[in-house]
Amino acid sequence: MRPLDLSGKTALVTGGNRGIGLALVRELSRAGARVTFTARNQANADAALKELDGTVEARVCDVTDRAGMAALLEPGVDILVNNAGVIGPIGHIAEVDPAEWARNIETNLTAAFAATQSALRGMVARGGGTIVNLSSGAARNAMEGWSAYCSGKAGLAMLTQCVAKEYGDRGIRAFGFAPGVVDTDMQGAIRASGINPVSQIPRGNLAPPEEPAWAIAWLCTAEADVFAGQEVDVRHEPFRRA
Ligand code: NDP
Repeated sequence: MRPLDLSGKTALVTGGNRGIGLALVRELSRAGARVTFTARNQANADAALKELDGTVEARVCDVTDRAGMAALLEPGVDILVNNAGVIGPIGHIAEVDPAEWARNIETNLTAAFAATQSALRGMVARGGGTIVNLSSGAARNAMEGWSAYCSGKAGLAMLTQCVAKEYGDRGIRAFGFAPGVVDTDMQGAIRASGINPVSQIPRGNLAPPEEPAWAIAWLCTAEADVFAGQEVDVRHEPFRRA
């Protein structure tokens, strides 16, 4: 994988303490960006910081804390990555607790909207910026028992298009990235629910988080300026029961 150039850029990655987010923080930083990531508590932030070089900063903030996120984004940022996500609640629609549904949509969709709104103010003033939304194949293909996740990610995919449509002519790029099936804790939760994602992957194994991270970081560089409004989709067939 060749070196990427994001020198002089600032980036904020939500949920950067583990999984794809952590790999992306490392990749953006390696490319020369000044990176800040959010974690939900100090212990998680500190654990991640130990794995990163000394230039990366962490902030403790839940993405659903709108005031906290707005304050974090107040100084402005060149690259915003809405990565934080949750998969539950699990169960057929009639059994889903409406409060859990609302929590999922708040995390996967509304928090990304709110962070985008905060980031856009500075981006518009500076005449440019990049917004990345971590999407999912679940935005297009229903996964049995994951209605909130699928609905939230479908909304997020449309939010990406709306940002690109409304702000593209002001130098702001928005794109989605559906990372396929990546070896993180989230996939552990999916496997525990009886789904065998590996059966759907031609090469027969999960992708390490570094693979989508490098691709996303490349998409943030000037080399990828043509990507705006689209979703890059590492596509597999819809999950089947094992
Ligand atoms: P993980 O479950 O491994 O990590 C999720 C991250 O999001 C953690 O850092 C978690 O923090 C954070 N997070 C969750 N809720 C909140 C919240 N309310 N506030 C702040 N942070 C929060 O997920 P992945 O790395 O696998 O996934 C990253 C993104 O990619 C997600 O949006 C996911 O939907 C998407 N994706 C992943 C796929 C995969 O195969 N892994 C497939 C398709 C999409 P904490 O440690 O505190 O829980």
